[in-house]
Amino acid sequence: ASRKIAFIGLGIMGSPMAANLVKAGHHVTGFNLTQPQIDALVAAGGHGASSIAQAVRDAEVVITMVPADPQVEQVILGEGGVLEHAKPGSLVIDMSSITPQTSIKVEAAAKEKGIRTLDAPVSGGEAGAVEAVLSIMVGGAAEDFAEAKPLFDALGTTVIHVGPTGAGQTVKAANQLIVAVNIQVVAEAVVFLENAGVDLPAALDVLAGGLAGSTVLNRKKANMVERQFAPGFRIDLHHKDMGIVTAAARAVEAPLPVGSLVAQLVASARANGDGSLDHSALLRGVERLAGR
Ligand code: NAD
Repeated sequence: ASRKIAFIGLGIMGSPMAANLVKAGHHVTGFNLTQPQIDALVAAGGHGASSIAQAVRDAEVVITMVPADPQVEQVILGEGGVLEHAKPGSLVIDMSSITPQTSIKVEAAAKEKGIRTLDAPVSGGEAGAVEAVLSIMVGGAAEDFAEAKPLFDALGTTVIHVGPTGAGQTVKAANQLIVAVNIQVVAEAVVFLENAGVDLPAALDVLAGGLAGSTVLNRKKANMVERQFAPGFRIDLHHKDMGIVTAAARAVEAPLPVGSLVAQLVASARANGDGSLDHSALLRGVERLAGR
């Protein structure tokens, strides 16, 4: 059935996700800080709003896809935000990657207004969003997940309810830990292979077919070979995620010896001015270590 959806945050991920909801037959009204992304949604068959209030007023479902905790707090809890203007009975789905604590705080504030929430962060990158093959990890009540499932199915191919509110974010934190470590070690292999004078594309192709193969290797090897670091997923955002996973792991006394080291390397990439590049640019840090 067609649903009335408000979509807040039409960035690298939100734009294609909102367009896919339009394609699936939903009535999607988008709001973003900058206008060109709103115009693009309208051109794709959606609708534009000039404020959060206008976007969410008639919505049955509100989706947020903004950078980090402060933006989620501002957009959902803040003055002129979602909870101030959304209808009682509506469902707010935050798909940003944030701390589980903020998801829990949002749920509590929403409950007072008779509004339900899900945390539903995603993995699969820009390509996954464009092709609607995201992995979506969902926290919240089972009934709310069931209601949202058809929408998630328009955005992704692996859609799993992982537990109560905040659980989606905890799983996403683990995802980001695995991805960062994987990228870092692929980058180390790239610099090693280049120093050794081996044909790099050939080497990466054969590695991709063996046990060393991974989604990271498949998706990021071209970026590394060509030094093409337009985002994709910005190092600034991965730095945010490494902060989330290190704090969450510390809180439950889970050791992250390798993850903590890679968190330092992600921070170093930012300090070296690479924050707005794709996370495959961790390669540049390995090059610096190699004296290049
Ligand atoms: P982005 O910076 O490209 O987009 C964020 C969008 O949010 C921008 O268009 C901005 O205008 C909008 N925004 C910010 N504050 C707003 C506000 N107050 N009101 C309305 N709109 C606002 O970021 P992105 O890469 O799309 O990532 C969004 C989220 O998804 C982040 O939490 C990120 O960690 C996560 N994520 C990103 C990827 C990826 O590959 N890019 C993959 C998985 C998850």
